Amino acid sequence: MPFSQLGLHSSLVRGAQAMGYADPTPIQLRAIPIVLSGRDLIASAQTGTGKTAAFALPVLNRLGPHKAGAPRVLVLEPTRELAAQVETSFRDLGRFTDLRATVLHGGVGYGRQRSDLRAGADIVVATVGRLLDFLQERTLRLDAVEVLILDEVDRMLDMGFIHDVKRIVEMCPKQRQTLFFSATVPPEIEAVARFALRDPARVEIGVARSVNESVKHALYPVRFEQKFDLLLALLERTDFQSVIIFSRTKHGADRIARKLKAANHSVAVLHANRSQNQRIEALAGFKAGRYEIMVATDIAARGIDVAGVSHVINYDVPENPEDYVHRIGRTGRAMAVGDAFTLAEPDNAGDVRDIERFIGQRIPQLSLDGFPYLGGGAPVIDTQRPGGGGGGRQRGGRPGSSHGQRPGGGRRPPGPSGAPSGHAGSGGSHQAGGGSGPGAGFGSGGGSSSGGGVGRGGPGAAHPGVRGRFRGRR
Ligand code: AMP
Repeated sequence: MPFSQLGLHSSLVRGAQAMGYADPTPIQLRAIPIVLSGRDLIASAQTGTGKTAAFALPVLNRLGPHKAGAPRVLVLEPTRELAAQVETSFRDLGRFTDLRATVLHGGVGYGRQRSDLRAGADIVVATVGRLLDFLQERTLRLDAVEVLILDEVDRMLDMGFIHDVKRIVEMCPKQRQTLFFSATVPPEIEAVARFALRDPARVEIGVARSVNESVKHALYPVRFEQKFDLLLALLERTDFQSVIIFSRTKHGADRIARKLKAANHSVAVLHANRSQNQRIEALAGFKAGRYEIMVATDIAARGIDVAGVSHVINYDVPENPEDYVHRIGRTGRAMAVGDAFTLAEPDNAGDVRDIERFIGQRIPQLSLDGFPYLGGGAPVIDTQRPGGGGGGRQRGGRPGSSHGQRPGGGRRPPGPSGAPSGHAGSGGSHQAGGGSGPGAGFGSGGGSSSGGGVGRGGPGAAHPGVRGRFRGRR
């Protein structure tokens, strides 16, 4: 069904067309009619599914022409970058209307935001802290809010904002429409939803826990001492356009960036200790292609939309399984194909096991051909559950078959036969999860994400990125 049949005003259909959207995505198809009807909504959808337009288009539609006075739409976002991005989407989609949107977030001066508010905005997109500042100084009132949008609510919970979010909800009129977007809706989030919403419709697109289907992902087990060298070797042999490297810590991100720069890579860094100007410059430079690599902490993992991210590398295994899905969701957005690699130390076995349970599939373990692994070969990450159980979790089912299917030929992740000699005893690890297929051995959770990245073409094909020489973009 095209946008024109969803009941949207022609100016908004044109706005979507001007963005290059030919047809609505599944979340847009399902959410737009509900939002247009005025009903509350809880939507769980993976990042990259087009959820911003799923709420922005019908909300713009509901507003009609610009009205002077207090804002009629309030959107709460967990991070400054997301707030800026969502406000831009409102402006872009509403370019053929006279509606006004503005963004409020910390890290920059108050002056411009204050004058924008005084000039009158129909839509305010805000992070929690700065919004509360303006409410306190009474530059802003929420008594005219007709639509309240709580975006990435699970992230707000993680970041400890839920108490403030509840305060803000209470300041909005009771008579309003509330839209609630969260990648996952665990019980704590359900409780917030019960508090904020009335008789909501529910839309769930895909499985909230699944890895974006257009991403192929793999683990590269490595000892701590060789992590950076393996990263360099992967970059060297990966045909990437732009890559985001995730680090668990801010210091770690700085350290990785420093070493990459020393190795002649052009690198941007994004984390919370950087000034807002530095963050804006890093993201803009990365988006524009001035930097081929962005090193980031999880602040960048949620919702940040950079077209053409071809690869995500987790320098550290994320502690929180949900962050794995969010991090690798930075690639493969809007159905472009992307690759995601995770460098994992043997000590990370527990975290990897948690991630595999969460996503309901095994992550293939690969080693890099010709890399001088200490001890003669890549270590093995043992994700077998202590106590065993689940026959499907054996490693190396259908041995070798997947590797034979690898496209490209030139370089292939070694399987048992191609592994360096030191791998003789552990060769199976490089196709772990392979034979078992996505979800196998995970009980009921397992089947939920079948068809995830690894499923297509078998695990041996999970790393098509290693092909030929590195070709960074200019
Ligand atoms: P989001 O999930 O809102 O962050 O959107 C992810 C990406 O999909 C963004 O780059 C959007 O511009 C893009 N997008 C959203 N809706 C559509 C659509 N209907 N057709 C094509 N791309 C879209």
